[in-house]
Amino acid sequence: MKASQFLFATLKETPNDADIISSQLMVRAGLIRKLASGLYVWLPMGLRVLKRVERIVREEMERIDSQELLMPVTQPGELWHESGRWEDYGAELLRFKDRHSRDFVLGPTHEEVITDIARNELKSYKQLPVSFYQIQTKFRDEIRPRFGVMRAREFTMKDAYSFHIDTHSLAQTYQDMYDAYSRIFSRLGLDFRAVQADTGSIGGFASHEFHVLADSGEDDIAFSSESDFAANVELAEAICTSTRPAATQARSNVATPNMPTCEAVAEHLGIALTQTVKTLIVKGSHSEDNPDAPKFVALVLRGDHTLNEIKAEKIAAVHTPLTMASEDELKQLGLIKGYISVDLPIPTYVDRAAAALANFVSGANIEHQHTTGMNWERDAKIAEVVDIRNVVDGDPSPDGKGVIQIKRGIEVGHIFQLGDKYSKALGCSVLGKEGKPVTLMMGCYGIGVSRIIAAAIEQNHDDKGIIWAKTDNPADSIAPFYVAIVPLKSKTGEAEQKAEELYQMLKSRGINVLLDDRDERAGVKFADLELIGIPHRIVVSERNLAENKYEYADRTAEDKQLLSLEEVLAKF
Ligand code: ATP
Ligand code: MG
Repeated sequence: MKASQFLFATLKETPNDADIISSQLMVRAGLIRKLASGLYVWLPMGLRVLKRVERIVREEMERIDSQELLMPVTQPGELWHESGRWEDYGAELLRFKDRHSRDFVLGPTHEEVITDIARNELKSYKQLPVSFYQIQTKFRDEIRPRFGVMRAREFTMKDAYSFHIDTHSLAQTYQDMYDAYSRIFSRLGLDFRAVQADTGSIGGFASHEFHVLADSGEDDIAFSSESDFAANVELAEAICTSTRPAATQARSNVATPNMPTCEAVAEHLGIALTQTVKTLIVKGSHSEDNPDAPKFVALVLRGDHTLNEIKAEKIAAVHTPLTMASEDELKQLGLIKGYISVDLPIPTYVDRAAAALANFVSGANIEHQHTTGMNWERDAKIAEVVDIRNVVDGDPSPDGKGVIQIKRGIEVGHIFQLGDKYSKALGCSVLGKEGKPVTLMMGCYGIGVSRIIAAAIEQNHDDKGIIWAKTDNPADSIAPFYVAIVPLKSKTGEAEQKAEELYQMLKSRGINVLLDDRDERAGVKFADLELIGIPHRIVVSERNLAENKYEYADRTAEDKQLLSLEEVLAKF
């Protein structure tokens, strides 16, 4: 490609609505343009990158014999009524009516459509296992679209779905997908981790998220310092290795004026924060259908720990979604916000670490007072000891090897064993070995193709611009161009001519090369090429040609090299 004929849409100024570095750089380098909130145009420069990511994803899906198909973005509402997600999905699902007043949605994901295909097309267990994938546009009406294409409303996803006669077969394909995903992110040259994830309300059997490590990530990932244990903090088990010492202090109330927090109380009393506890009152799972469940329950944590809502929601007595009691409700229970005790008339679920304390400090349930010398059993009843806190740096790893470290990650992929949730709801079965219909088991597997690009830039950039990760195979580089040739203006036209010749030579070798023949100063071209992150640059000048040399520079190396034509060609 010749730059003079290509849409170079670089900007000097940082756009003021681009909120993280990757989105700033993608706009400045002319990869994307914002059309409206969460909607982006992929300019030619950006689309080249997107297509290169797609190619690697496609190759790895083909390698595990997943079959490509293409489903419409627009989906009939009926299918969503059938699956129950018309009601359950929430406001991210954009629903609309056509001219005949029929319900439609813009697909945020395609379980319903693929299950409809499978129930119509699959007849026999002999056709299984089978998996289908597509690379296609998704729409999610995100509440807060942000970070450019990282959390957009319209984005490109690779989504795959597999169908099985039993869970054993599902587990095998799940492993194939896990391996394919690992190869994709390795080939892209990204620093990533596969982490155990929450199976959430769908309640599947297994789930892993693939995260690119970057400080700007929205998720916290917990790893072991010594083993390959890695889990989303949402899920990582908090182990307690200490046992409760004996009660030695008497229970007594102390004045803690205007000290509703554990931090303030610990400082005031001159004790460690780890000797205090806090009590949270949440709604219980009581309902007409569940009259024996409590209306409210108490959750107790050590003062330095934070509540993990996902874990708390797994307690049967706790209402889902987790809902804190309002101030009015606390009053009705006779509890005083900021000073709630642990000696309570409602079921009290105590985190493992808080349960291991003796002689601790809690609220006194009297305004501006706390109680010291509190002890479980003697002073307060425990309904159950539970794991309800977020792990923190330095906690023992749940697999018993090493300690936990926490880093930020960007979720770029998610694989999930769904079980029969959709196949049951939509009646998707085939004839099994015994000639009877068997409801199929399903897996679903997503990759944020467009998000990968933003994540790659978050992980790799400098003050000059984007750095595309080095890949083991140069052909896997997702840089929009792999090499740029820059002729410096020459009086005789020799530099321009030699640059053109070199361009043709590299092009004929199948190299993804750009000839920067724009009518711009060399400094402007260099800055643009660095901003876009083109990995290799060759400058052709009259001065160096006099010695038959070309000036070569690597995007990430400080020094330049003078190379002969043969040496240049040998590089590529
Ligand atoms: P998140 O937790 O980030 O909202 P998700 O759990 O909703 O993601 P999935 O339903 O698992 O996402 O979708 C598969 C993949 O699609 C995700 O791993 C992510 O890489 C990508 N993705 C999801 N939402 C967006 C979005 N709004 N913009 C860009 N990519 C997205
Ligand atoms: Mg997810």
